[in-house]
Amino acid sequence: MKKNIQLLIGTHNDGKFREISKLLSKKIKKISPKSLKIKPPKETGKTFKSNSELKASFFFKKSKIVSLSDDSGLEVLALRKKPGIYSARWAKKSGSFKKAMLKILKMMEGKKNRKARFICSLSIKLSKKKIISSLGIINGNISNRILGNKGFGYDSIFIPHNHKKTFGQINISKKMNIDHRSIAFKKLKKKLKFRKFFI
Ligand code: IMP
Repeated sequence: MKKNIQLLIGTHNDGKFREISKLLSKKIKKISPKSLKIKPPKETGKTFKSNSELKASFFFKKSKIVSLSDDSGLEVLALRKKPGIYSARWAKKSGSFKKAMLKILKMMEGKKNRKARFICSLSIKLSKKKIISSLGIINGNISNRILGNKGFGYDSIFIPHNHKKTFGQINISKKMNIDHRSIAFKKLKKKLKFRKFFI
């Protein structure tokens, strides 16, 4: 199959790179910033949207290739929406995702409200002046303990609405049909269709 469109998937997170790649058409040649030896930018934005825009613009500027980036994270209502945009940094500070999940479970002890949501902002930088973004949200609850090891990040403590299992217990392909990233992706695809750009 001839792959005539190339797209840089602006993330250094292997789990995300895999998930985003699977959402894209097979006709697209997927480039990683790691393969071009481009280091990630500092995430200085205050919202998921500003961070995804910042990353897509940064990778476009460095590579001159149309760049797709996401910024995502977990918001826990009873923890005043923490860790939110700091989800990756929390894990780094805690030492691992397992430790970060245990920290959340500890902070949630005795709390009745276990509502949480995963959020994803996707941005695609098409040219120097054109950038398009979309937002995806999936609501759910924090489990009482770490369950499953199928996913990545905070998957093993998040039970999506209308489900009994955590994302860590659900097959990746099933998770990808319903998660925040695929919701944002479907919206972005619609917006791009208008501009005759197909992903
Ligand atoms: P960032 O978008 O690179 O700042 O990283 C967001 C962080 O949020 C990731 O490193 C994960 O910890 C977490 N996260 C985002 N999406 C998911 C998901 O689908 N499952 C589990 N954790 C996620």
